[in-house]
Order: sequence, then structure tokens, then C-alpha cells
Amino acid sequence: MVGSKVTVVICQAQGRNPVKRQMEEDILTALIAEPGVDVSLVPHLYDMPHDHTGTLFLKSVPGNLVVLGWLYERATRWTLDRAGVRGHEGSSLIVSERDDDEDIDEEDRHEPRGIGTVEVPDRTIYCLDLRVRNDAIDYITEIKRIVDENSVQTVDLMSFINGSPKQEQLQRYLQPERQLEARRALDSGSTALADKEALPEDTRRRWYPVIDYTRCTNCMECIDFCLFGVYGVDALDRILVEEQDNCKKGCPACSRVCPENAIIFPQHKTPAIAGADGDVGGIKIDLTKLFGGDDGTSALDMAVKERDQELILDGREAVGMSVGIASRTHDEFDDLMDDLDALDF
Ligand code: SF4
Ligand code: SF4
Repeated sequence: MVGSKVTVVICQAQGRNPVKRQMEEDILTALIAEPGVDVSLVPHLYDMPHDHTGTLFLKSVPGNLVVLGWLYERATRWTLDRAGVRGHEGSSLIVSERDDDEDIDEEDRHEPRGIGTVEVPDRTIYCLDLRVRNDAIDYITEIKRIVDENSVQTVDLMSFINGSPKQEQLQRYLQPERQLEARRALDSGSTALADKEALPEDTRRRWYPVIDYTRCTNCMECIDFCLFGVYGVDALDRILVEEQDNCKKGCPACSRVCPENAIIFPQHKTPAIAGADGDVGGIKIDLTKLFGGDDGTSALDMAVKERDQELILDGREAVGMSVGIASRTHDEFDDLMDDLDALDF
């Protein structure tokens, strides 16, 4: 069967925040009745391992995709990329506020110079941040606009899924009405009555870096800096996050030493580290957001301190500046600091 559908996937918030859950349910309810849309709920995107049925479901979607989550759009996009869910970047009218200085002239912004991603299929993925607007109707309206924009024909999801993963495995994601009913039963305290087979499978909270390949230049500074075996290289000698769960919970150290600000920790409280869309390396300058040190501590000092803390917690020796610090990184940070001093903010 062939149709012109867009698949919308709502990634649930962590925890049980009632306001967030209501927003998810309002969007889900409205879209179930919407022609041209297949809608489903999965757990929080960042927390799903690669073999989770929610991830397999996302990977099974053949056509254009809208992914809504409680993360910056950039964090959602690159978390999807790492899971092998790729497509061209769709542009949405709902965007997070830019995390940079609006006064910077356009001519001072530079094009991303990263190595880019690989094996991008011919389809579009739209990532929407559910924290930007307070009203579900804004998202519903935007999704309808996206559906109108996507008049190309795509294979119907139900008939596409065969082979691996099995349709039985993904059944819970193909019946949004059942998902909604089960969630409501759970929220009203009827745990015993909730149809658990209809709910997304559980996840636990995770913490790991996500690489933005439009920025990453493959300089390998992160792999030299991290002493916990998180990074590796693929068959094309491109940097990748190989052992995600080796990363130390709460520590964002390597994001502070990446010269391109290409490393995202989606759950970090600092917007620049969590994936807020901004620019770096030359002109993007916001000390508190980029370097994170409210007390004026440099990013490099903070990163070294954070790494030492984790080494000690692991029963290892602190190494300070003696391991994995590229002199270029140090010099560039010093130059940047000098440039900043010369500017009048
Ligand atoms: S330090 Fe940044 S730019 Fe360099 S390889 Fe790692 S992620 Fe890419
Ligand atoms: S935050 Fe620390 S442990 Fe995690 S990848 Fe970066 S340097 Fe390694």
C-alpha cells in the first residue's frame, strides 16, 4: 500500500512530569485523527539503547519523519544519527532560541566545516524541541504544515515493516490509541489495568557524548583526552562514540576541549553543551555558556579538573595537564581569551 504519510514520533520526557505528559498526550490525541500522519510514542530518545524496540521502530521508518523531544533540535538530530536514523535536515518554524549573540553580523558567521555524516537516505527528518512552546496546538499546527509540505509519496509504514525487526516487536509503536489508553490508565493509578504490552519499553537514564558531524573536523582531540575508552574510530577512520556507557555520569569534560564545540551532552544544564544552536571557533563568543565557568575558570581548567575527579573516583591517579591536552587546543583557547579581552561586551 502506498500513501503520502509523514511519521511523527513523540519521544517521552524522563520522569512523570504531568505538564510534559499532558503536552505529549494532547499532541498524540490530535494526530491520531489526522490524515497523512502515522504517530507514535517512544521513550526518551537519549535513553534508548541501540537495540531498544523504540530505536528499532525509529530505524524502521522509511519516509519523512518528525521527531519531537525534550531536547535541543541539534541534540535530537545527532542522537538519531548515532542510532543510524538519518535524513536531510528539515526546517521547522518552531525553533529554540539561538544560543548566540543576535548582534553578530551574518557575514561574521562561518559555514560549518565538519566532516559531515555518511549514508544519508533521500528523506527529511524534522526535529522539534517540545520545550520551546507551551501549547500543544503550536506543534499540531506545525506538523500539519510539514505534512502539507511533504506531498511526495512514501511507503506506508505498516506494510513496510517486515523481516528484521519483526512487526510483532514493534506492534506497541504501531497502535497509538492503545498507547494512549495504557498511559492514561497508568497515570490515573490503575497500574494493574494498564495494558503494558502497549506501552513503550522501559529505559534507564543514560549519559554519553553525541557528536555533531557538521562541526567535527576529526581532529581526534577528544579521543586523546578521554581516558575512559569512550571514543573510537570507524572503518573510515572517523571519530565515533564507541562505548557510550563508559562515559562518567554528569561529566562533560571532553565537550570543553573540543575545538569545534561538536560534542553535545543533551542533558547538561549549560545550553552550549546541551546542543543549543550557536556558533564557535572564531566569532561565537559567550563565556558563561561556552566555557561554563561562572567563576571565570577556563574551559580547559574545568575539563582537566572534571577528568581528574573521575579518575580518582575510579581509583586511578589524577593526570592534570600531562595527558591528552593538545598544545594547539591550549594555544587556541588562549588566543580566544585574548580576543575576548579585546572585545567590549
Ligand atoms: S575533538 Fe571535536 S572536532 Fe575533534 S574529533 Fe573530537 S568531536 Fe571531532
Ligand atoms: S565526559 Fe569524560 S568520560 Fe565522558 S567521554 Fe568525555 S572525557 Fe570521556
